[in-house]
Amino acid sequence: MRPSTATETEVKKKRWVTKRSHPSVQRSLGARYPLWVQLLSLAAFAWAFLGWLNESWLFKFDSPIWLNRYTEYAIILVFGLWRVWSEKNPYTRKRFLILTACVTVLWWLIPWLFPFVEPYVGFLGTQPVFPSLHTPGTLTFFLILATVLLFGRRVICGWNCPCVAVREVVGFPFRHKTLRGDWAWKLRHTKWIFFILYLGAGYAVMNPLNSWSASFLGFFAMIVILPYFLSMFLSPLTGNRAYCRYLCPFGATFGLLNRVGFFRIDYNKDTCTDCGLCEQVCDMGIPVVREGKKFSKVDRADCMGCGRCVSECPAGSLAFRDVRNVLSPALHQDRKWLRGLADWSQAPVRIRAGLFALVLATTLGGAWYYASLVGMPWGTCCKFGEIMWIQRTTITLIALLLAVGTAWSGLEHQEQGVGLYGG
Ligand code: SF4
Ligand code: SF4
Ligand code: SF4
Repeated sequence: MRPSTATETEVKKKRWVTKRSHPSVQRSLGARYPLWVQLLSLAAFAWAFLGWLNESWLFKFDSPIWLNRYTEYAIILVFGLWRVWSEKNPYTRKRFLILTACVTVLWWLIPWLFPFVEPYVGFLGTQPVFPSLHTPGTLTFFLILATVLLFGRRVICGWNCPCVAVREVVGFPFRHKTLRGDWAWKLRHTKWIFFILYLGAGYAVMNPLNSWSASFLGFFAMIVILPYFLSMFLSPLTGNRAYCRYLCPFGATFGLLNRVGFFRIDYNKDTCTDCGLCEQVCDMGIPVVREGKKFSKVDRADCMGCGRCVSECPAGSLAFRDVRNVLSPALHQDRKWLRGLADWSQAPVRIRAGLFALVLATTLGGAWYYASLVGMPWGTCCKFGEIMWIQRTTITLIALLLAVGTAWSGLEHQEQGVGLYGG
C-alpha cells in the first residue's frame, strides 16, 4: 500500500477535528462543550438513574415525580426544549421537536396520568401498560415492527424512543467522543448476543410462565436496564449512542428489519466530494463513504435513520429510500428534500405538522376517554393516587401545548443551509 503523504495525513486528521462551540449553539456536528455543560449532562444522567433506582429499590419519598421512573422524561422535556432552541440544522431541529413531544406525551403523560392496558397475545405475567412496544406480543410491538419494515429504524430509534431522546438531547456534549474506526465498527456485532436473549424472552412470554421462564425474564430485564443506565455514564469515553450501537436488543431487531425492509440510504459517487462530513456527524460510527463507495448505498442494521448525514451532505449525494419511494419513484429524499420538510413556509409542511399535532392530541384524548370508559380512576397504575386535579390539568396542558407547538413553533425560525461548511 502506498504510504500517505504529509498533506494526505493532514487532510485525514482534519476530517475528525471538531470545533469548540458555545453551549447555546448546537450544530449537527459534534462539538466540544465546556466542562460545565458536560457535568450538567452527567448530573442529569445520574438524576434519571436515581429516579429509576428509587422506584425500584430505594423506595424513598414515596417516589415523587422528581425521583421516579418518569423523572427521566421530565429531564428529556427540559433538555429537549433547549436542544430545539439551539439546534441549527432545521431537519434535526424538527426531529428533536417531534422526539421531545412523543416522549413527553406517549411515554410520560399517558402512562402516568391515563394508564391503560394494551391488547396483547401471550402470557406476559403483568398487564402491559401503553406503550409497551418493546414487549413481545403487545399491539404496539406489532405496529412498530410493521412501521419499521416500511420506514426503517428511524420510526423508533430516530424519532420516538426515550433512549434516543436522553442520549441525543442530554448526552449531546459527548457526541464528538463517538468511537470510530475499524475496530469500533467491527464491535457492532456484540448486539446480536442481546438479540438472541431477546428471542429467548419472546419465546418465554408466548408460553405459560414457569419458574424458569420467570427467572429468565427477570435476568433479561436486568441485562437491558443496567447497561441502559450505566452506558450513560460511559458517554465521555464512548460517545452518546454506545448502548444503541452495541447493547440494545430492540435496536438489533429493528436493524434486521432495516435490512429486509424498504429503508436504505442511496449514495451518488459522481457528486460526492469526499469531504467526510457524513461520517463525522454519524453518532452510530457508520463509515458512510466507505459503504457508499463499496455498495452504492448504506444499508446497515446499525443505521438509526437520524438523517444527519443526508441533511448535512453539502453535495446532496445521499438520499433516503423507504416505502414511499416504491409508491412514488420520482421522490428523492436528499438534503434539499429533508430540509424542505422543515421549511414552515411550505403548505405541505404545515399540513403534516398539523396532522402530527392532531395525532398527539387525539392519542391523549383517546387515552383519557378510554381510562374513564373502563372506570380506571386517575393514577391507579402508579403511586399517585392523590394527584390533585390541578396537577393533572397543568401537565395535560403542557402536553397539548407541545402538540400545538409542534405545529406552530420551532419550525418557523429555521435557517436554510447552516451546515458546518456553509452548505
Ligand atoms: S437502539 Fe434501542 S435504545 Fe437505542 S433508540 Fe433504538 S430501541 Fe431505543
Ligand atoms: S457528506 Fe456528502 S459529499 Fe461529503 S463525503 Fe459524505 S456523501 Fe460525500
Ligand atoms: S448513517 Fe446517517 S442516517 Fe444512519 S445513523 Fe448515521 S447519520 Fe444517521
